[in-house]
Amino acid sequence: MTYPLRQSSMQQNYLHQNSSQHNPSMFGFSREELLKTITARQQPSYRAKQLFQNLYARGEKNFDSMTSLPIALRNQLSQEFSLLRPSIVDRQESNDGTKKWLLQFIDGARAETVYIPEKNRGTLCLSSQVGCTLNCRFCHTGTQKLVRNLSAQEILEQVACVKDELNDWQQTSNKSLNEPLENPLSRKITNIVMMGMGEPLYNFENVATALNILIDAEGFCFSRRKITLSTAGVVPMITRLGKVLAVQLAISLHAVSDEIRDKIVPLNRKYPLNELLQACRDYPRLKNSERITFEYVMLDQINDHLSHARKLVQLIRGIPAKINLIPFNPWPNSPYRCSPAKRMHEFAEIIQKAGYAAPLRRPRGSDILAACGQLRTESIKKRKSETHEHQPYQKI
Ligand code: SAH
Repeated sequence: MTYPLRQSSMQQNYLHQNSSQHNPSMFGFSREELLKTITARQQPSYRAKQLFQNLYARGEKNFDSMTSLPIALRNQLSQEFSLLRPSIVDRQESNDGTKKWLLQFIDGARAETVYIPEKNRGTLCLSSQVGCTLNCRFCHTGTQKLVRNLSAQEILEQVACVKDELNDWQQTSNKSLNEPLENPLSRKITNIVMMGMGEPLYNFENVATALNILIDAEGFCFSRRKITLSTAGVVPMITRLGKVLAVQLAISLHAVSDEIRDKIVPLNRKYPLNELLQACRDYPRLKNSERITFEYVMLDQINDHLSHARKLVQLIRGIPAKINLIPFNPWPNSPYRCSPAKRMHEFAEIIQKAGYAAPLRRPRGSDILAACGQLRTESIKKRKSETHEHQPYQKI
């Protein structure tokens, strides 16, 4: 795949243009929904499994290429369903190789997805909502009014679009679909983080449905341990996540007192620090190999006093954890400055001396506004009557 203009954009509205004329998409159907679809058409149930593999392991974009299915069934399905991807309306590449795509969904809402290649892995950062309701003071997405939740389909479509772009689908023949999957380490996308636009735990059902398909060994086949969900701290949902999925957990902590956190992460007024940390202590399977990641954005003169680092260590005592120190990434008219490098290093050192990993994160993709907290789209909230019937706005 070539990116003709570095750090610039390209318009490509090739799909969804007459979307109202298309059949409903089957992409995003769970195993259960596929089974229902298949049995309603008097087909044997194993066809549902074949469809599932074609959709999520092979990334087939049309029914004709699903040669493991009988032709009559392929024809029938293509008359009733589509497999359209969202349009890619913009793609950008950073000097550091980070890539960002702006996707437009069937009702015109837009969300960004970011791919961060590293030496031994490739991380895909997914959005869970268009916009966000949290209003964290340092976050660009928070300045955009929430437009809507993304459906499970739209969350998975982000993965599918990037797999198309990177040519990262399984290359196995149909015959070998029943054999174990290729070595997942040879893939370009090895890790998934729910750290793009939105608060994933305010869109729990859709996120959980999508994650289940991502971890399914016959689907996208990502290990539960390679998927990280980041939350600003929706405490009851952290507990629920632990019960149903137990993917890796990241907490946007950013402050060590309720006084400061109330201001910069307003959700703290609802779920204060002691409740949040208790939910972390109770999260299942915590051990050194499955630690909680605490994210801490370094804001000059706000949360970066060295006494804050000492308090941080006390607060998380007993929780297997790693602390990601994130230099504040500026955005147009942002109200904060990043802490000076010397202070960030001193801050990190205090935490490291207490026995925790505390890497100072190098921002990735900041030249194309792809780094943490820089995502924002121009999507505007539509009236309910204007939305597509298959993509209803959801109450949060
Ligand atoms: N709502 C979820 C998912 C967003 S993840 C959450 O809050 O965790 C995005 C991460 O980037 C969060 O840790 C967020 O606090 C952090 N972030 C937001 N704005 C930032 C900025 N300007 N610079 C650095 N990190 C930022």
